[in-house]
Amino acid sequence: MIRFQDLRDTNAPRIDEYVAAAERVLRSGRYLNGPETAAFEEELARTAGCSCAVAVSTGLDALRLILRAYMEMGRLTPGDEVIVPANTFIATFLAVTDCGLTAVAADVDEETFCLDMRRLPLSEKTRAVIPVHLYGNPCWDADLFSDLRRRGILVIEDNAQALGGQAAEAGFHGSRSTGSLGDAAAVSFYPAKNIGAFGDAGAVLTSDATLAATVRTLANYGSHERYRHMLRGYNCRIDEVQAALLRLKLDDLEAVNRRRAANAALYDTLVTNPDVVRPRILPGCVQTWHQYVVRHPRRDLLRSALLGKGVETEIHYPVACHLQPCYAGHPGLRVPREGLPVAERLAGEVLSLPVANVSEEEVGTVAALINEF
Ligand SMILES: *Cc1c(COP(=O)(O)O)cnc(C)c1O
Repeated sequence: MIRFQDLRDTNAPRIDEYVAAAERVLRSGRYLNGPETAAFEEELARTAGCSCAVAVSTGLDALRLILRAYMEMGRLTPGDEVIVPANTFIATFLAVTDCGLTAVAADVDEETFCLDMRRLPLSEKTRAVIPVHLYGNPCWDADLFSDLRRRGILVIEDNAQALGGQAAEAGFHGSRSTGSLGDAAAVSFYPAKNIGAFGDAGAVLTSDATLAATVRTLANYGSHERYRHMLRGYNCRIDEVQAALLRLKLDDLEAVNRRRAANAALYDTLVTNPDVVRPRILPGCVQTWHQYVVRHPRRDLLRSALLGKGVETEIHYPVACHLQPCYAGHPGLRVPREGLPVAERLAGEVLSLPVANVSEEEVGTVAALINEF
């Protein structure tokens, strides 16, 4: 059996250190807003090339807090349009509609599976765009997004799947870390992400100190001074145990991403089935290979053939967000009348192959089975 991802395998190499770190916090008597969180935030900001990181409860909360903070700062108002790609995890949409903003669903690119940056549904009411670095594949066009930012449109990265990724600067003179490219970024440490917590956690990245301070206040009941509540906030704090564990995980970010990249490169070489379309990466980008996703016109048959031979795969994602039942007739979502044909087709054709903990030999086995199909 080749498992898609068994988190016991993911965490096995340093499990004793994780247990020791958790025990240290449990015995410390300090469980929130403590030294582990502060140290983790500093280390995370450095890793991502931002001046501020605010560690929070989940990736969804990170996105919501960014949008709410911009509302408090007067940069966004209820009803403003926020462009989101239809091929993403539902959290990107939920954050927007939960804040009373209008989500404008946009189609994705045939080859990158990410937001189609040549055809953004911009209008006079567009106030923000959320490019999602889906599957770890950086979705960035430096010229386009700096132009939008000059026009006052916020660019908020959904970096939940791409910590450690890089995208090209304008003119390809160099590259910068995903999460430091736009105005702000959300990160998720859901257990299966490349850097995963032992439970839920997330973070906001930004180099805007006012935004960071507003997010921090909102995440702590709208208060930065005890029993004085400046904003109607939330409780979206991270706990010290997760922060301590994530500090250890963060040390391994490069190694984790390198291992996934080696497996992805092997699939690229070994999968030769002409019906399989492999993912495209934009020039100058470094992928983190959160998922290795291919397209196949008979995806469901391929998936069951693989499962019949003991290979687990997944589908990210089987239904485009704008077609989810929770958005049927919802006034906070705008979809073009002709639908979003690429995203809708992809939902029936994408297949994620195991890439996280598999050996070279296992990649070879999966590739051979795909070529035989
Ligand atoms: C995982 C994920 C999120 C949400 O993160 P949680 O920590 O699960 O709340 C948001 N966007 C994308 C693209 C994700 O993959």
